[in-house]
Amino acid sequence: EAKVQGRGILRFSSPGMTTRAKERLSLEADLRLALDQGELSLHYQPQVDLISGQIVGLEALARWQHPTRGMVSPAAFIPLAEECGLIVNLGHWALQSACRQIRVWTDAGLAPRQIAVNVSAVQLSRGDLLESVRLALKESGISPDQLELEITESFVMADRDRSFKAIADLKALGVRLSIDDFGTGYSSLAYLQQLEVDKLKVDISFVRDMTRNSGNASIVKAVIALGHSLGLEIIAEGVEEAGQARYLRSLSCDVMQGYLISKPLPAEEMTCFLHAFAPQLVPVDNAGSFTL
Ligand code: C2E
Ligand code: MG
Ligand code: MG
Ligand code: MG
Repeated sequence: EAKVQGRGILRFSSPGMTTRAKERLSLEADLRLALDQGELSLHYQPQVDLISGQIVGLEALARWQHPTRGMVSPAAFIPLAEECGLIVNLGHWALQSACRQIRVWTDAGLAPRQIAVNVSAVQLSRGDLLESVRLALKESGISPDQLELEITESFVMADRDRSFKAIADLKALGVRLSIDDFGTGYSSLAYLQQLEVDKLKVDISFVRDMTRNSGNASIVKAVIALGHSLGLEIIAEGVEEAGQARYLRSLSCDVMQGYLISKPLPAEEMTCFLHAFAPQLVPVDNAGSFTL
C-alpha cells in the first residue's frame, strides 16, 4: 500500500507493520525534508571557566521544529538519523552552521574561544568527516582552533584503527577534540592516553547527584584526577545548582556547562546573552564562591 500523505511524500506501509514502525517511518520521511525546509536549527549553550567566570565556549545543539509535532528532541531524531544514514548530511549541516555562526560572532567581537559541535561515529563510518570539517572551516574562514568536535566513546571504539586515524587527521587540521558523556560508554582507559583529545566532558548523570551521592562524587573526582594527570581539560555538563559549581571548583574542575548559566538558546538570543554578560559572566569572590 502506497499513499501520498500531507507533505507530498510517498509512504509505504504494509498491514503487518506495527504502529510504532509506521510512526518511525513517517518521522524518518519528515526528517529527510526537514533539512531542506529549514526546520532544523542550532541552539547554543555557554561553557564557563570555573575560575575566571568567563564564557570560554559554546556547545551547538540541534533542534527540530516539526510543523505538526512541535519541537522534536535530538534524543529522538539523532538516533533515527544515525540509523538511516541521514546523520551524514545533518552532521555536515551542523558543522557548517556552527562555523558560520561563530564567524558572525567573531566579526562582532563577541565570540568565545571556541564552538563545540557534536559528531557521530556514523559520520565517520558512512561519510567523509574529515572533508566535511575541512569544508566548513574553509567556507567560514574561522581558525581551526575555534572549532571543537565532541565525540563519544562509541566513536572511538567502533572501529579503532579507523577512528584513531580520523582523530589524528582531525588534530592535524588544528581542530580541538573532546570526549562527550565520559564514563558512560564502554572504552578502555588504555586508549585514553594514546588518543590525541584535549578535553573530557563529565557526564550529566554523575554531576546531577554529586553533592548528595558520595558514589557519584567519587566518580567525578576520579575523572578530574585522571584527566588532569593526562594533561586534559575537564568540563562538567548538567550543572544546575550553584552548590554544584562551587563543589566542582573545589575539585579543580576547569569548566562547567548547564542550566545554572543558561539553557541552550537560539543564535539571536545567544547574541543578546553574549552582549549582556561579556566579558565576565559569573563573579567569583575572594572566598572562591559564586555570587550568582
Ligand atoms: P550532549 O551532547 O551530551 O548534550 C548535553 C545535553 O544536556 C543537551 O541535550 C543539553 O540541552 C542538556 N543539558 C544541558 N545542560 C543541562 C542541565 O543543566 N540539566 C539538564 N537536565 N540537561 C542539560 P539535548 O540538546 O536534548 O541533546 C541531547 C543529545 O543529542 C546531545 O547530548 C547529543 O548527544 C545529541 N545531539 C544534539 N545535537 C547534535 C548534533 O548536531 N549532532 C549529533 N551527532 N548529536 C547531537
Ligand atoms: Mg555534547
Ligand atoms: Mg554529554
Ligand atoms: Mg549525550
